[in-house]
Amino acid sequence: MRLALLFGSLTLAFLLAVWTTQVPKPRPADAPVAAFSAARAMTDIEQIAQAPHPVGSAEHARVRAYLTARMTQLGLSPQEQAGPLSPASIQRLRKAGGDPEAANNQAINLIGLLPGKDRNQPAVMLMAHYDTVVGSPGAADDSTGVGAVLEAVRAIQARGPVERDLVVLLTDAEELNLDGARIFFGGHPLRDRIGAVVNLEARGADAVAPPCSRPDARPAPPSTCSAAPPCAPMAGPPPPPWPSSCTSRCPTAPTSPSPRTVGSAD
Ligand SMILES: [Zn+2]
Repeated sequence: MRLALLFGSLTLAFLLAVWTTQVPKPRPADAPVAAFSAARAMTDIEQIAQAPHPVGSAEHARVRAYLTARMTQLGLSPQEQAGPLSPASIQRLRKAGGDPEAANNQAINLIGLLPGKDRNQPAVMLMAHYDTVVGSPGAADDSTGVGAVLEAVRAIQARGPVERDLVVLLTDAEELNLDGARIFFGGHPLRDRIGAVVNLEARGADAVAPPCSRPDARPAPPSTCSAAPPCAPMAGPPPPPWPSSCTSRCPTAPTSPSPRTVGSAD
């Protein structure tokens, strides 16, 4: 009897473990209007992630204009909040081949507000960053976050008036030094009204070369698959391709802990 109970409990635990790790299937573009649809979010991601859009680039300005239009369309009445780039960001952007002067050494956040029925309740914030590193279109990091925020706002609105204020914050210069978040939480009038933050950020895109997750670095091609690839400065010509026998998932991944800490750029 005890053995049967033990076996039954283990089976139940296993089934529960499998069930709780399942993710919902992405919904198509014709999903019910009040549902979140990954396909609808993808239409924004495709627009945002056409090319790298680091701070100071023409593409960065294009993406900001696109997002301003989308936020307006969603009734968020977007406003820009500009603030100075930190010295570390300016140095990092220059080192990576970017041009902070083209952005007037400023980061520009986009902030939207959907007023709730009870304005006295603490607000909920949906947050993501719209800038990228110099060398990536940022489809995952963080266009998925931005696209998901926009689609979530659309779905929430389709369900009727919101109970409490919903604040949308699309930050700038996150990849450089989290400047946009610092600028908002450093003194925006809405800051003290926020009761909860849902920050959508990309993680886990590359488990092979954590030391190369800095915005100014990227993996140099390893000569073999037996060691963690070293980092090379991002400026200059692109590195040669990785050996065909050594894909982005080397059999021997580095075992040292990631240097990422809270506050590192992603
Ligand atoms: Zn990121």
